[in-house]
Amino acid sequence: MVLIVGLRYLATSGFFAWLTGRLHPGLYQGLDRQVKAEIGWSLVSAAIYGLPAGLVAWGWQNRGWTQIYTDVSAWPLWYLPLSLFLYLFAHDTWFYWTHRWMHVPRWFKLAHAVHHASRPPTAWAAMSFHPIEALTGALVVPLLVFVIPVHIGVLGLVLLIMTVMGVTNHMGWEMFPRALVHSKAGNWVITATHHQRHHDEYLCNFGLYFRFWDKLCGTDRGLSPRL
Ligand SMILES: [Zn+2]
Ligand SMILES: [Zn+2]
Repeated sequence: MVLIVGLRYLATSGFFAWLTGRLHPGLYQGLDRQVKAEIGWSLVSAAIYGLPAGLVAWGWQNRGWTQIYTDVSAWPLWYLPLSLFLYLFAHDTWFYWTHRWMHVPRWFKLAHAVHHASRPPTAWAAMSFHPIEALTGALVVPLLVFVIPVHIGVLGLVLLIMTVMGVTNHMGWEMFPRALVHSKAGNWVITATHHQRHHDEYLCNFGLYFRFWDKLCGTDRGLSPRL
């Protein structure tokens, strides 16, 4: 599982870094040393993400652990989109509050400065975390599968969204159309234009997928004017 997470990171970040080079040549110019550090931290994080995921996957296969199901008729069909939303919302909630905690100065220095050392972040920064931060992220989905029933396909979709948004939110340009990002629905979801502002200004825009907690807690400063 460590290998899978590591290769998944290299493939996804590598693809979007390549795309960045094609569409926005020069955007990562002069950032070679930073990119090297981003890849190094990310590979350590991949190991930290892979261990609990591998353990839970083993327990699911061999010990009947977890609420993961493979028979799509085991739950009503409407539960598929609902379970997707529940996973994303639960992960987002966990992320928002642990992220705010990591911006308390003494914890920032210890656990979160590594992630913000990317100035500006690149597509390689998706998993560029200090091991403590990586651990807070690595436990979420492996714990959720014990609590919230989920079809294996939906779980795959959750991991796909997590991976792609983690990379694209850091790559320094917006891949979604302006009309969508600035639409009413776009006003509630987080893409690169929103997360970029967190990296520029630090004490705002803490969310992962949705702007719900940021809006509720008054930490939403809106979209980055730069992207
Ligand atoms: Zn970030
Ligand atoms: Zn932060």
